[in-house]
Amino acid sequence: MTASRTRAQSAAVIGELREWQRALRDQFPILTGHPQLSYLDSAATAQKPQAVLDAIQTYLTTTNANAGRGTYPWANTTTALVEQTRDRVKGFLDDPAPERSAVHFTSGATEGLRTIARDWLPQLLADGDEIVVPLADHQANISPWLEARQQLARQGVHVRVLPMPYQRASGDYDHTALADLAGPRTRFVAATHVHHVYGGDMNLHRIRRAVGPHAVICLDAAQSVGHLPVSAAQLDVDFLVFSGHKAMALPGSGAVWARQARGPAFTPGGWPGTPNTVGIASLAAALDWLEAAGTDRIEQWTVALAARLTDGLRHLDAYEILGCRTSLAAGSPVQQRQGIVTFRHRDIDSGDLGFILFSHGFMVRSDSHCQGEAGERDGSVRVSLHVYTSVEEVDRLLSVLTSLG
Ligand code: PLP
Repeated sequence: MTASRTRAQSAAVIGELREWQRALRDQFPILTGHPQLSYLDSAATAQKPQAVLDAIQTYLTTTNANAGRGTYPWANTTTALVEQTRDRVKGFLDDPAPERSAVHFTSGATEGLRTIARDWLPQLLADGDEIVVPLADHQANISPWLEARQQLARQGVHVRVLPMPYQRASGDYDHTALADLAGPRTRFVAATHVHHVYGGDMNLHRIRRAVGPHAVICLDAAQSVGHLPVSAAQLDVDFLVFSGHKAMALPGSGAVWARQARGPAFTPGGWPGTPNTVGIASLAAALDWLEAAGTDRIEQWTVALAARLTDGLRHLDAYEILGCRTSLAAGSPVQQRQGIVTFRHRDIDSGDLGFILFSHGFMVRSDSHCQGEAGERDGSVRVSLHVYTSVEEVDRLLSVLTSLG
């Protein structure tokens, strides 16, 4: 994919979707209420559209009760809401066999991954088995697996950790090295759908090919659900885990989707207590909103803006872009950058750059982004986009970054 083709493709998508995007942006009160500010930290958490705010208000003022306990109408409605949202999650994730799969509500991706590691993984593994752990991904997708290994070791079951290989230049996994590494004892692979620093789609089809048909793949979809179509029917993975707050629902909501096809059945242990019913109500509304907007168009928009930003940055010698520099747009056979662009300035400390950008109204993340031990050592500035990000914001950011060059 040449730079000029990427540029032309990105401009065409922006031209086509501009009016649609403006109408959607107007549905976010926090953004319309602060026109002088520019929220560019959607990988940390997403803003909420009016429809989600309304659903929260409606739930709390009309049927708020506990779920799965009472038998009066508000309680029954809440119980039904929880069960219907389970089905809603399956539908949103394009579940090919919803009668067999399970959805377990969690407080977010971190708790989802931890639940799988604590309650399910030990049943899968035997002495001498191997697990692949992505040591340059988000810490939430590393520590649960290492803790599970320690826990098993205390019981005399010794499991080998194979570090997921990376290609540093592109920020992608090294699928060839992974194929060499994985053998018949490789039972479990923890992977990420979209990298929270490099921004790339981590090519799940190639991971499945590299590890073979029998290994369980657990996919951290925290940065993909709500940003692009995520299809369980198309991805041959066994778990999909995400956070509601990154998909426009309330913090404290999230889910584990389990295919229930490889390994033991996923049945989270322990007494679950009262579910986060208002969080679940917000999740149902957020998924409705995202589906109506069209996750395919949301992806096209954020990929086009990220390509515009990366293309602008590549012409500024003062900046180093982390991850893939060239194959940025839809259709790239190598890797597709989603709406996350992370970079450093040659002379300005990233923390300072974050403050400078805020003095111009831009809210970005500048630190080491909770990356695991194999990740970047130095801090960087992460700009993360969503469908409400406007092209004008990206252009203004580029002109400020240019002035700092
Ligand atoms: N996985 C990835 C890729 C993330 O980016 C994040 C949060 O930034 C998480 C997991 C953890 O999500 P949460 O803090 O919502 O549990």
